[in-house]
Amino acid sequence: ARRAEEEYDYLFKVILIGDSGVGKSKLLSRFTRNEFILESKSTIGVEFATRTLQFNEVKDDSGKQLWLREGPSRLRYGTQLDRKDTEPLQVLIIGGALGALLVYDVTKPTTFENVSRWLKELRDHADSNIVIMLIGNKTDLKHLRAVATEDAQSFAEKEGLSFIETSALEATNVEKSFQTILSEIYRIIS
Ligand code: GDP
Repeated sequence: ARRAEEEYDYLFKVILIGDSGVGKSKLLSRFTRNEFILESKSTIGVEFATRTLQFNEVKDDSGKQLWLREGPSRLRYGTQLDRKDTEPLQVLIIGGALGALLVYDVTKPTTFENVSRWLKELRDHADSNIVIMLIGNKTDLKHLRAVATEDAQSFAEKEGLSFIETSALEATNVEKSFQTILSEIYRIIS
């Protein structure tokens, strides 16, 4: 039986993916203020952070809304998953995720160029209807910006992704990005 404080209506797995140093763990900790995990997998050159979020459906006059739970959440570590040695790690980490936040750093063009690579990884290994949101992080570093908003926007449109720019440092659009992807997932599964 579930304990009362752990009750929830839905459990979605959302992953953060992108080059090292783009701000995945900072985005996650900014959003959750709880513990976070950052798995560094140097063997495959990939960093993943995953967190299972709990949220409840609440109804008000305007209809259904999603409400993110404060409180305990279940964390899963890539290395703690049962894995067969034959399965690539990416498959295990990406598997079961309904959403992916694909992050690049607006001050580092290479991290934006590598977005295509991450996208391929997701499309090869993720659920076919996974919701992918492109995130340009570190907008607070205005004087260092090297990836134009319009370029990322048009790339996202071409690839059918949602797009948002964030600053984990200044807490700009972080809440909004998670809320948006969770709402999109919710729309798809309900
Ligand atoms: P990860 O490897 O993708 O998880 O990146 P981290 O979250 O570890 O962040 C890498 C570095 O970028 C750290 O030094 C962070 O302090 C910095 N950083 C992350 N997000 C931001 C941001 O929004 N603005 C600025 N200025 N720095 C950031």
